[in-house]
Amino acid sequence: MTDRMHVFSLPMTTRFRGITEREGLVFEGAGGWAEWSPFLDYGTPEIEPWLRCAEEAAAGDWPTPVREIVPVNATVPAVGPERAHEIVTRSGCATAKVKVADPGQSLADDIARVEAVRDALGPAGRVRIDVNGLWAVDEAIAAIRVLDSAAGGLEYVEQPCPTVEELAEVRRKVAVPIAADESIRRAADPYRVRDLEAADVAVLKVQPLGGVRACLRIAEDIGLPCVVSSALETSVGMAAVIALAAALPELPYACGLGTISMFTEDIAAAPLLPSGGVLPVLPVSPVPERLIADPRLRAAPERTEFWQRRLADVLAYRETLR
Ligand SMILES: [Mg+2]
Repeated sequence: MTDRMHVFSLPMTTRFRGITEREGLVFEGAGGWAEWSPFLDYGTPEIEPWLRCAEEAAAGDWPTPVREIVPVNATVPAVGPERAHEIVTRSGCATAKVKVADPGQSLADDIARVEAVRDALGPAGRVRIDVNGLWAVDEAIAAIRVLDSAAGGLEYVEQPCPTVEELAEVRRKVAVPIAADESIRRAADPYRVRDLEAADVAVLKVQPLGGVRACLRIAEDIGLPCVVSSALETSVGMAAVIALAAALPELPYACGLGTISMFTEDIAAAPLLPSGGVLPVLPVSPVPERLIADPRLRAAPERTEFWQRRLADVLAYRETLR
């Protein structure tokens, strides 16, 4: 694999998860290009499923799509109301996900942002909020009621509290549907969310959960509506994310796939950027032509060695599972 393998490092427009450069590895298999880009703070056992996702892509083993386009949500960071309005209007999306509960801000800031987003979308648009687990249970119950009214109705609330137990408690006390995001990080997690009746919606990320087919099995098993979200992949990895969104039998919600614009560059010549609020479903993953041609997009030699070691560690870990 080593000689057909490239490690990328892409500068980001905004800091995300504490990083300003997104690193990962791409390689070509018999069925197409694949991306393996687990976050740097994840340990070896956790990143093994991410590799299964890449291997599935390299084998070209994706299920048949059931739709030709995937609706995408706009993402509104913890910005002021004017900027929030502008982001939503420019996106062309009919659904907006609004970040709330930012540690530097108040509920009044969140209310103003949510009101601006509703104004930009009009009455037919859908507004969801993402709390990233930052509220306590009582705080969540009070804030969800207030923001639901400010938004003229929320589609759902993503991860209001950190734990699955807390999600279940909030869910019993508010009328707005609850989505589990950070609570679903490993393959066993969606089942726990289902068993504790902690959410109405499951956010699925294709790399951490082990690939497109693994996610389809999870979706079928848990019987909850699913939203597909990226883990900040480049266009090569995004193709796998889209393949999942394209293959789910039901897709009642817009997906979180508008993240390529968070990079200043992409490794594919034609980045998978949404247009008019949708992404087209591709037959194959894009080729990382720009990465191959442009040394600026490649990681430094010591980072390339780091990723090669990381890969060797995962392969060695697999041997211990046999
Ligand atoms: Mg989220």
